[in-house]
Amino acid sequence: MQKLKIHSLTKTYDGQEALASVDLDIQAGEWVGIIGESGSGKSTLLKIIGRFLDADKGEIFVDEKKLPPVSSQLLKGHEAIKLVHQEYELFPNQSVRENIAYALRFYEPEYRNQRVNELLKLTRLEDVQHRKAKLLSGGEKQRTALAHSLAEVPGLLLLDEPFAHLDPNNKQTLADAIEDLKKSHRLTCLFVTHDASEALAWADRIVILREGNIIQEGRPEEVYQYPINQYAAELTGLVNILSAENNAGQRVIRPNFIRIIKDESKACWTAVIVKIRFKGTHYEYYCRTEQGEDLLCYRSRRDREVGEKVFLTSSKKHSQLVARH
Ligand code: ADP
Ligand code: MG
Repeated sequence: MQKLKIHSLTKTYDGQEALASVDLDIQAGEWVGIIGESGSGKSTLLKIIGRFLDADKGEIFVDEKKLPPVSSQLLKGHEAIKLVHQEYELFPNQSVRENIAYALRFYEPEYRNQRVNELLKLTRLEDVQHRKAKLLSGGEKQRTALAHSLAEVPGLLLLDEPFAHLDPNNKQTLADAIEDLKKSHRLTCLFVTHDASEALAWADRIVILREGNIIQEGRPEEVYQYPINQYAAELTGLVNILSAENNAGQRVIRPNFIRIIKDESKACWTAVIVKIRFKGTHYEYYCRTEQGEDLLCYRSRRDREVGEKVFLTSSKKHSQLVARH
């Protein structure tokens, strides 16, 4: 598959709009991360693209060819598109190996075995390959579902919340597997998540969905650094939201661009530290300005204390003026 084009996709459930005229193009080899709050329409969009659900209106083109409605197909789904559902289903009484091999049941045993071995390695499941699916941890189940979907490399892989319910270790293992996947297979992938950090890490392009509308898209750095509004800013990471001068919207500044300085004459704000939190790689300093606004900044050392008065600064180029909503 070279290209997927979505035009004016609209979906309503019981009079409630879940998708409002969504347009999206995906090129071969591209990794697109969709982020949005719970209920913003992410799963609905993936189910429609994965051919499990019909939209009310709109069109989907694969390589310029318009797809017929799902309801007119004998079987749901599309041969070149694989969707790993949020609630993926495995055969509970079959082993990891058997679950993966099932996707290759029409192939010669020799090729099947070899491909299953490759997939077990890629998804780091070699050690649990003989364990029954019902006895797996959430992360192992998720990786088995992923391996199953990759058995025949799909033209487009759709991942719905691949990291939901995973503990940090499992998250890291899955993250490593996905990084390998990105390198080793020329895969096109559309994944959705409500946690932006993975999307920022892997996606070539980020799409922000809000109440069924795409409100912003762009390269991860672009979207992170120049969010279009408060929703986009908060969705993509911790951020300071300040009221702008003359009531002209809001000013957003990422905490990494605010510094504590010694020189009062260069300070943008005078503030008091209200809380310090150790985060492993750095400390979070929560401050309250004289104007009563909250400001968060990062610092590598704990050389100040709660209650202390500090001078804070940030360069204009790192603060972004945005619309209020
Ligand atoms: P997300 O994956 O971003 O959490 P969904 O696509 O699951 O969002 O849901 C979008 C909206 O549509 C939500 O308000 C949800 O309650 C509603 N919705 C989703 N599926 C159904 C359904 N089968 N019937 C009725 N409403 C639904
Ligand atoms: Mg969902």
